This record gives sequence, structure tokens and C-alpha cells, in this order.
Amino acid sequence: MTSPYLTAPENLDALLDGEPPYRARQLRDWLYRTPVLGVDQMTNLPGSLRDRIGDDLWPFVAEVEQSADSGTTRKWLFRAPDGAAIEAVLMGYPRRTTLCISSQVGCAMRCTFCATGQFGFERHLEAGEIVAQVMYANASLSRFPIPESPGRVTNVVYMGMGEPLANYDRVRESLRRLIEVAGMSARSITVSTVGVVPGIRRLADEPWPVYLAVSLHAADDETRSRLVPLNDRYPLEQVIEAAEAYFTAKGRRLSIEWVLIEGANDSDAQARKLAAIARRMHAHINVIALNPTPLSDDRPPTQDRVVRFVALLNEEGANATLRQMRGQEIDAACGQLRVRKAAG
Ligand code: SAH
Repeated sequence: MTSPYLTAPENLDALLDGEPPYRARQLRDWLYRTPVLGVDQMTNLPGSLRDRIGDDLWPFVAEVEQSADSGTTRKWLFRAPDGAAIEAVLMGYPRRTTLCISSQVGCAMRCTFCATGQFGFERHLEAGEIVAQVMYANASLSRFPIPESPGRVTNVVYMGMGEPLANYDRVRESLRRLIEVAGMSARSITVSTVGVVPGIRRLADEPWPVYLAVSLHAADDETRSRLVPLNDRYPLEQVIEAAEAYFTAKGRRLSIEWVLIEGANDSDAQARKLAAIARRMHAHINVIALNPTPLSDDRPPTQDRVVRFVALLNEEGANATLRQMRGQEIDAACGQLRVRKAAG
């Protein structure tokens, strides 16, 4: 059979012809409530049903699992049957466990500083492929916990490969399944966008108060269009207005993401303009120093410059912090996720 994650949770009975109706409920719990790595652990299902699901439980295989940061960061490369590679990164902290998930294979946005964009777009992920990343991480955590971190994923960020709002319907369905089927709180989920304005406006109309992060990276159109090609289609002012509308609709503080690149967007003038935008958007600013990527000569600024940029934002009345780096030695850090094509 195909992976049950590729069927809507409400339609699982269609996969189980011949089984009594309560089996669909039991299977749904194994998929979304207490996920396990293999069918052999689905103890209340009959062997015949477990055999039918067999190796097709997951819509991908975990081809590589790596860990870093003394075991508190875990990265998976999942391979779908069509060869598509999906990456997800799990980060354990004392009171939360955050999973960074992918929404597309590759990315069409081509932001100059991001490895995913440099390698182009392959395809959208299905809702089930998005949700299965979270459930796989939960299954992994229940089998191999990260010491001193919660034993399940408490927070999900759509900050892996892809632009979630360019895959709107499937991402929406993945949010519905995470919140309404798996029981996650909308307030523990962050959707990050490079500024797909119609997507921000649609998300504002959805019933769930998920966090919105906007990847700004520049505070004027000329600078932004150099780093983020999508800015030509949706210029800064439109992005800011859509973000303000999101804030009004949800009453949730927004985040602005800002990758600091030496000589490109690290000036005092950019910091002052950014602080003004952040105040307008009711946004917290997450600054991150650039992680170098294979196809670009861009470099992060010096540590002094990074610290000065963040301090200036705060002096200007904005709320800014420097983002902690995780997983750099396994290419799991922000902007380093990319598709490695299968050999041969
Ligand atoms: N397409 C969505 C989701 C991808 S997450 C979006 O653009 O928001 C994108 C985030 O990854 C950026 O905001 C930035 O915080 C981070 N990022 C991308 N490339 C990076 C790099 N080379 N170094 C550090 N952070 C990077």
C-alpha cells in the first residue's frame, strides 16, 4: 500500500477494507498521537494489518540521520520513492524541542544567500509528507530521547527547505492536521515566509493563530531586490502592510528574520530603517550571521559588527536578538539545507 500518511486522517478507513471501523481510529492514533518508528510497535493492530502496512508506514525512508551539538541537534535526510530528498532538523532545549521542517523539495525563490534556493526547485511536498516529518521526529524522540529535553516535538517551524506560502494549500492542510488531528497548539507553530503577500493574507483568514515570521533581510527595495528576487513582485511596502494586517487579525507578535551579510545589509543605516519597520509591524527581530553556502562568496560580518548591529536595533526602540547557531558541522544550520541528488 502507499504510506497511510498520504491519506487524509479522516479517510483512513478507505485503506483498511475488511477491517472493523474502530481500526481506522486505532491507526490514526498510531500515526498522529503516539507515533512509532515501525509497524511492529503498533501493538493493538492485528498482524495481518501490520503486514499490509509493512515498510510503507512512512512516505520516505530516513536515509541519513546525523547528530551534532552534543546530541541535542538531530538532522534527517528523508528520501521519497521518487528520489526527492527532504531535510528536517530537530533541536532540543531544556523546556522545548523544536523541529524545523521542509515544505518543498528545493525552492524557487532563489534568495542569493540561501543554499536551498541556489539549487533550484524540484517539487512541492504533499501535506502528508510535511506532517510525517513531525511524526517521524516524535517517533524518534520516544525511542531515543534527547536528555533533558521534552520527549516530543513541542514547537514546529516551517523554516527548512522551500517557501511554505508558495505551496499554500498543502501547507494549510499540514497545519490543519498538526493542530486539529495531532493536537498541537497553533501557538507552538511558526510559518516563515520570504514575503508571498497573497499567502500572508490568506493565512490571516485561517482559524489558527500560528506565528508568522517574515524574512526581510533588507530595509529598502533596492537592497532587498538584490538579495531576495521575489521583492520585485511583492515590494517591501506590500509585505509590511500584509504583515501588519496579520498582526491585526491574530494579535500575535510577528518575527522578522534578518541574515547579516558583510557589506550587503549590515550598515547602521539599514539597522535604523529596520528598527522603524519592526516597530510598525509589532515584530521581534531575529538576527543571524550568515552561514556560508557553496555557490556564493558572501561572508558574515565580523562578530563586533554583528553585535553592534543588534545593539543599534535595540537602541532604536526595536526588540532584537541574535539567533543561536545549531548544527553547523552537519550542514543543518539555517540556509544550509539543500537537496543532494541520489548517486547514479
Ligand atoms: N522560505 C521561507 C522559509 C525558509 S527559512 C523564508 O524565506 O522565510 C529562511 C530563513 O533561513 C531565513 O529567514 C534566514 O533566517 C535563514 N537563512 C537562510 N539562508 C541563510 C544563511 N545562508 N545563513 C543563515 N541563515 C540563513
